[in-house]
Amino acid sequence: MASLPKTDTSDRYVYRFGGGVSDGGQGDKNLLGGKGANLDGMASIGLPVPPGFTISTAMCTRYYDEGGQFPQSLRDEVATGIAHIEGITGKSFGDEADPLLVSVRSGARTSMPGMMDTVLNLGLNDRTVEGLAQASGDARFAWDSYRRFIQMYADVVLELDHGAFEEALEIAKEDKGFHLDTDLTSEDLEALVDRYKALVEQQWGKPFPQDVHDQLWGAVGAVFGSWQSERAKVYRRLHDIPGSWGTAVNVQAMVFGNMGETSATGVAFTRDPSTGERAYYGEFLINAQGEDVVAGIRTPQYLTLAARERAGAKAASMQEAMPAVYDELAKVFDLLETHYRDMQDIEFTVQQGKLWMLQTRAGKRTAKAALKIAVDMANEGLITREEAIGRVDPAALDQLLHPTLDPKAPRDVIAKGLPASPGAASGKAVFDADSAERMAAAGEAVILVRVETSPEDIHGMHAARGILTARGGMTSHAAVVARGMGRPCVSGVGSLAIDARAKLFRVGGREVTAGDILTIDGATGEVMLGEVATVQPELAGDFGVLMEWADGVRRLKVRANAETPLDCRTARQFGAEGVGLCRTEHMFFDAGRITSVRQMILAEDEKGRRAALEKLLPEQRSDFAEIFEIMAGLPVTIRLLDPPLHEFLPHEEGEFAEVAAATGIDVEKLKRRAAELHEFNPMLGHRGCRLGVTYPEIYEIQARAIFEAAVAVANKTGDAPIPEVMVPLVATRRELELMKAVIDKAAEAVFAETGTRLEYLVGTMIELPRAALKAGEIAEVGAFFSFGTNDLTQTALGVSRDDAARFLGVYVEQGIYAKDPFVSLDIEGVGELIQLAAERGRKTRPDIKLGICGEHGGDPASIAFCEAIGLDYVSASPYRVPIARLAAAQAALKP
Ligand code: ADP
Ligand code: MG
Ligand code: MG
Repeated sequence: MASLPKTDTSDRYVYRFGGGVSDGGQGDKNLLGGKGANLDGMASIGLPVPPGFTISTAMCTRYYDEGGQFPQSLRDEVATGIAHIEGITGKSFGDEADPLLVSVRSGARTSMPGMMDTVLNLGLNDRTVEGLAQASGDARFAWDSYRRFIQMYADVVLELDHGAFEEALEIAKEDKGFHLDTDLTSEDLEALVDRYKALVEQQWGKPFPQDVHDQLWGAVGAVFGSWQSERAKVYRRLHDIPGSWGTAVNVQAMVFGNMGETSATGVAFTRDPSTGERAYYGEFLINAQGEDVVAGIRTPQYLTLAARERAGAKAASMQEAMPAVYDELAKVFDLLETHYRDMQDIEFTVQQGKLWMLQTRAGKRTAKAALKIAVDMANEGLITREEAIGRVDPAALDQLLHPTLDPKAPRDVIAKGLPASPGAASGKAVFDADSAERMAAAGEAVILVRVETSPEDIHGMHAARGILTARGGMTSHAAVVARGMGRPCVSGVGSLAIDARAKLFRVGGREVTAGDILTIDGATGEVMLGEVATVQPELAGDFGVLMEWADGVRRLKVRANAETPLDCRTARQFGAEGVGLCRTEHMFFDAGRITSVRQMILAEDEKGRRAALEKLLPEQRSDFAEIFEIMAGLPVTIRLLDPPLHEFLPHEEGEFAEVAAATGIDVEKLKRRAAELHEFNPMLGHRGCRLGVTYPEIYEIQARAIFEAAVAVANKTGDAPIPEVMVPLVATRRELELMKAVIDKAAEAVFAETGTRLEYLVGTMIELPRAALKAGEIAEVGAFFSFGTNDLTQTALGVSRDDAARFLGVYVEQGIYAKDPFVSLDIEGVGELIQLAAERGRKTRPDIKLGICGEHGGDPASIAFCEAIGLDYVSASPYRVPIARLAAAQAALKP
């Protein structure tokens, strides 16, 4: 393959592809953008790609650095690029006899809505259009291309009001009583071009540019300009894409899908992006161009016979209509999958029976499809199991673990559309993106209802639980974006008559207005009125297989934060290897117990407290016994009472009266005692082990309940649990020492009474900076540390989690913290405390058990950090256990 000598790449901006020339070395995405890199890649493996060239992302950066100017050297390079295309196609740019037409396409490193739309058919003007008509022998095609070009150029480069152009097209059709663009004759289109040119002059104040080079530079400038558009910026913010990346520009010879019945344009996936099934999947349109397929101008036709039959559609599939080209395309799909070793999303055009490839990229897919494709490809030998593990985004698993519609639940189906993105969602109908965002911020579940979506709706789609559109196919904007975001979506519900301004839609004689509850099922395409009951997901199949592979490579153990039997069972189903945090106070809020708890708190002396605690003992014992049985043979970490006592205090008269009745203490006295317990800063007040230090009987009786339960379960099942008794909020060695003595004494008493001895551990949470610093000393007493990263973040940053919402957003925006430190661990700061504590703890006690509990235990980035510093386990909420298992495996595989 011919290739330019790679001299100094630093001042080189144009890279040619196609026709046996490849300057790009098969695709550096950072330099050429994703689209450019893969065009070069496809051409290099011998696929039919129209020749072209890519202006690199480096030029975008330089363009902005130099205040929106192009250097002279770029003009020379672009001339070389155009000459390359001319050489291969045998046509000349601007030639009045047989003109070369090109497309100008934006292309960032990752595909990015919000960037400039593609301009097609560039190079047409009043004279070249005649040449094109002559040379092609098809005047209709020439004028169709010209009207498309003016409309696109006016919209995306000149940024004129596109409504006026669409209206002119509608009028042209109406005048003749036509429904379809394809019905318009050559003369109709010529008249439409005149109308379009007049519109340009009216709105822009200048005639439509006739110089083809002006057209080209205008389009190139517009691509670079769109990098800083509001839409692009919003998208970058949502997806953590740095502004410094820039976009590339691709200029490529046009091929024409609008040259009659043997021409077509289409989009395809090499596997089903919804289900992951290994079947070609896509849509195409005969005698059409560019994005006609996704724009919903005509109803697209299916690619394969099987898909057409399954959908019960009448229009011929590509497999039937163009069997030879279809076979060639199918071969290309397989070649691309083998080459890129991933499912591909492809754009192609057929010009008079000849296939041309215009784009390929790794296809966006649902979590379900990601799982299936990863497992299938590993089984097919296309990728390794390790790669399969890396292919699934742990956070996306969330989609699969959540409920789907209960098939037995009654449902009031009002319409049916395309199953564009799976999952079920219920919420209030809203008709614009801003309202969706506002209501979601106020905590409401909403379904965004649009005729069709566009990049301006992204924020609303993100905020909505589900998306419903009246227009657009399986590859429409709504469908693609929803799948990427993991939002359920039903698209193309043609029967919906939406009146967005009146905020309502009508369907089948019924009216749905803003605020009415809708349910959509993205797996079936059903739209229902009201909320529909849901069922738990299926955890076997591909999910089970991938999890098994992940378990095979991960080193970190994964436990669950769980205190109810239900949570414990869910956690085990999801593969938890024990309980990392059982918060005993959650057991106290139970209606039957709270009075005894209050009695304990309000008691005036130890005797009163003991009397109340004795009532709680059997209850706690049976709770623990149940948890130990569910977690048979696995470690269970039980945290002794932690929160400030006032959280349990009675507030209302009736509640005081209940406690008075139970204790015989009068209400006034109880109220006085409650007032005494008031704290100014309860999170730093009388809580955690401070309760145990001042009222040891509380921890003593809790410990007794734990050991009695453990002994009972050991004797009943023969499978002795391993209780890990955890003391919260320790700052000093002495605190832990005192509490350990209380716990050990309770254990000894129970073992002596029952004649059964058990193994158990006493350890502590590390959730205060002082504890992290003094971990070496604390490890002399404690057998394990569990990093309580919620409190450790609060105390290390001096930020109250409950009050942070007001300013944390700005902090993240300003880059003070990269992410919300309560969601993703502040690795630099809090992480350093954890690392230091782990090191000091291990130095004292080499076999000390180390883990984290708290929100961060289910966050992939935080889990990667836990792996890096060699903790023993992470503990996450039950639904996040699978996410943690996969994230732990990915972390272990990281070099
Ligand atoms: P996007 O990034 O929005 O997908 P593209 O640059 O891929 O935009 O262009 C959109 C569509 O325009 C393509 O799918 C293809 O159908 C059409 N297109 C782009 N370049 C050409 C070309 N050189 N010849 C024919 N059609 C083209
Ligand atoms: Mg586009
Ligand atoms: Mg494209």
